[in-house]
Amino acid sequence: MNKYGSLSLAYREAGIKHTENESLSAYSTFRVGGAAAIIVRPSSADELIFAVEAAKRAGVRTVVIGNGSNLLFADAGFDGVVVVTTDMDRVEINGNRITAACGVSFTRLALLARDAGLSGLEFAYGIPGTVGGAVFMNAGAYGGETSQFLAGSQVYDGEKVRTYALSDHKLSYRHSTFAENEKLIVLESVFELMPGDRAEISEKMSSFMAARREKQPLEFPSAGSTFKRPPNNFAGKLIEESGLKGYSVGGAQVSEKHAGFVINRGGATAEDILGLISHVQDTVLKDHNIQLECEIKYIC
Ligand SMILES: Cc1cc2nc3c(=O)[nH]c(=O)nc-3n(C[C@H](O)[C@H](O)[C@H](O)COP(=O)(O)OP(=O)(O)OC[C@H]3O[C@@H](n4cnc5c(N)ncnc54)[C@H](O)[C@@H]3O)c2cc1C
Repeated sequence: MNKYGSLSLAYREAGIKHTENESLSAYSTFRVGGAAAIIVRPSSADELIFAVEAAKRAGVRTVVIGNGSNLLFADAGFDGVVVVTTDMDRVEINGNRITAACGVSFTRLALLARDAGLSGLEFAYGIPGTVGGAVFMNAGAYGGETSQFLAGSQVYDGEKVRTYALSDHKLSYRHSTFAENEKLIVLESVFELMPGDRAEISEKMSSFMAARREKQPLEFPSAGSTFKRPPNNFAGKLIEESGLKGYSVGGAQVSEKHAGFVINRGGATAEDILGLISHVQDTVLKDHNIQLECEIKYIC
């Protein structure tokens, strides 16, 4: 039996949900990617840690993902274990504090906060990621950002579970300490919110969603904004000024609705998307002398 066969057996014996040689495209909002040797779907922190430790013992690399809404999988897939957290969906509300497992949908969290009469997470409504992905990316929108409401997290560092205070996350614009150390896994996070009026919270959330529908190409698969916002500027504006709106490489296209989004028009490969991203970066550098930094994580 090869290393994947024994690993799969270990997962089966532990009762952990997993598949072998499954396409990753369903696990990425770009709907692109080859197969992973194993995809594991733990339903608790204990299962996640077991899955990662068993892979380590077998000499197999791992990557932990949430909803795949800020990443691009390679056409060749992933020769290792992809741990998908979306079945880890436990939420606990205690006064103004909400504790959420890493796989909880960020949009669902915003809805639960609203139902509990808690304000702060309205900005999260419509961000199609998980709590773990939001903490990793310091996700934000419409003036709100994860860092403003995060109180702390439980983090597995490859050896043991540690409690991180807000400052330990080292959050800045679309960046965190997790992006610098791939061993670190967010298991759950605590958010501290303010009491608020349910109707006002609802209204704010609806207006954010309406703005998304109006401005973003939600009708096509994408990974959201492709590039980080350059200082004192907007990636979409620079790309549009370079005449690249609608420009395509294979099935990948700079959205005609919002130039900051690369979309999958149908049948795009990771090569198409990477080729388009490079072309946009080169053109914007030539035209504006600004280096656009990719926000999307490439997993290969
Ligand atoms: C239509 C659309 C609109 C979007 N709008 C916004 C927006 O308004 N604001 C915004 O900030 N983003 C936006 N995004 C991008 C994306 O939704 C966010 O970055 C989100 O936080 C990613 O969460 P995820 O669970 O999908 O992470 P994934 O894409 O699954 O992963 C992203 C990175 O986080 C890591 N990761 C995920 N979970 C964990 C974990 N538990 N522990 C350690 N590492 C982990 C992964 O390894 C990967 O490197 C949008 C995307 C789309 C498709």
